[in-house]
Amino acid sequence: MHDLSVAELAHALRSREFSSTELTRHCLQRIRSLDPQYNSFISVDDAGALAAAANADARLAAGEQGPLLGIPLAHKDIFCTTGLRTSCGSKMLDNFVPPYDATVTRLLRDAGTVLLGKTNMDEFAMGSSSETSFYGSTRNPWDTTRVPGGSSGGSAAAVAARLVPLATGTDTGGSIRQPAAFCGITGLKPTYGRVSRLGMVAYASSLDQGGPMARSAEDCALLLNAIAGLDPLDSTSSAHPVEDYTAQLRQPLTGLRIGLPREYFGEGLDTATGDRIHAALALLEQQGATLVDITLPHTELSIPTYYIIAPAEASTNLSRYDGVRYGYRCEAPRDLHDLYTRSRQEGFGDEVKRRILVGTFALSAGYYDAYYRKAQQVRRLIRQDFLDAFANVDIIAGPTTPGPAFGLGAKTSDPLAMYLEDVYTLAVNLAGLPAMSVPAGQAAGLPVGLQLIGPHFDEARLLNVAHQLQQASDWHRQAPVEASS
Ligand code: GLN
Repeated sequence: MHDLSVAELAHALRSREFSSTELTRHCLQRIRSLDPQYNSFISVDDAGALAAAANADARLAAGEQGPLLGIPLAHKDIFCTTGLRTSCGSKMLDNFVPPYDATVTRLLRDAGTVLLGKTNMDEFAMGSSSETSFYGSTRNPWDTTRVPGGSSGGSAAAVAARLVPLATGTDTGGSIRQPAAFCGITGLKPTYGRVSRLGMVAYASSLDQGGPMARSAEDCALLLNAIAGLDPLDSTSSAHPVEDYTAQLRQPLTGLRIGLPREYFGEGLDTATGDRIHAALALLEQQGATLVDITLPHTELSIPTYYIIAPAEASTNLSRYDGVRYGYRCEAPRDLHDLYTRSRQEGFGDEVKRRILVGTFALSAGYYDAYYRKAQQVRRLIRQDFLDAFANVDIIAGPTTPGPAFGLGAKTSDPLAMYLEDVYTLAVNLAGLPAMSVPAGQAAGLPVGLQLIGPHFDEARLLNVAHQLQQASDWHRQAPVEASS
């Protein structure tokens, strides 16, 4: 059961091969027996899941046909879930039980999905390894001495280990794509504004975007269909028309122009990873695509630019955690000032504090022009690089990460080394573009991800290219050894 795709599961549910309750029990059983070695879940909601499954079974029995009806899934623990703790990987929100659903959560609940639980993540989505979680590190199912990537590492590990067929993630600077690459699954970061941010705990509001993580492009398309669209309650969500993201999956790739940015294939790219990327590109070429050399000249500025803008926005977003309204409150505060400072000191971890300090500094009166305003100007140049490139190519391709999953603890004492992991993913968020990571085989037994980047709102094209690649290869079907048992 756990090896079936979402489309196959939906078919089996409709033809009564098994019920949603049986499927849900199977997933819960796998989580119980296998997850202790991965730590991919922060909360598992057995009772809620079985109730949702019973409800889905009743709807199926009544003849309802929804493509996600009765399908189990997991949400990154950044999406608010009514009555179920939403911790964002932080001690600050360890006791936070939301009174409302995120729009993404609500849409998927209405579609009849079965929420199994909430997945582990870097604290407040700040990180590239899922090691900063208050609930301990998640481990990569391909090699449990290695990180699953971050910040949506719990979702990626749970999907890779076949604990759940489908999960949500969020991507501020790569947090869907990078863990998807490290865990050998498929992940899509939609165009900024394509998916509502309401009820998604805010990290950097001009960059954050939620999206699907699954084993195949087709499964990602099914999930995106359910969550994309204008949300009147999120003023930054887009009114751009929503497509049926499964409709174009089978289009041939003849005539497709794929741009290869020279900056993504230079120094710093691990050789074996580069070889896998070239092999995947060759497969796309065989299907009729042409490869075109392009340049994105401001690529090297994306790390400094992102690491000013994201912390600046984080420092203002995280000011709401003051020990007063909700979240962690210190014991026996002496006065109001002590309440604020000690609650934040005790409630936040080191990486979050580092971001708040950097962001507050970049926004302070004397430095705003030199850092924040300058970063916004460079952001515009980075965006323009992509717009210029898309005048000549349909999509852009390259590696998702410079190398495969690194060891647990390998970069925790060196924040800059950790930030360098994001070199190929950050610019996409600064430009607001959609992008995917798709499995491209393995280097030394560890998965490699091919990144596909599209023009604004061209998710359907990315999914089409990824699906065609998955028709011609079996990389997305490869599973870590223990997970396939
Ligand atoms: N690694 C990046 C950061 O730490 C991106 C994280 C994300 O996309 N949420 O900010």
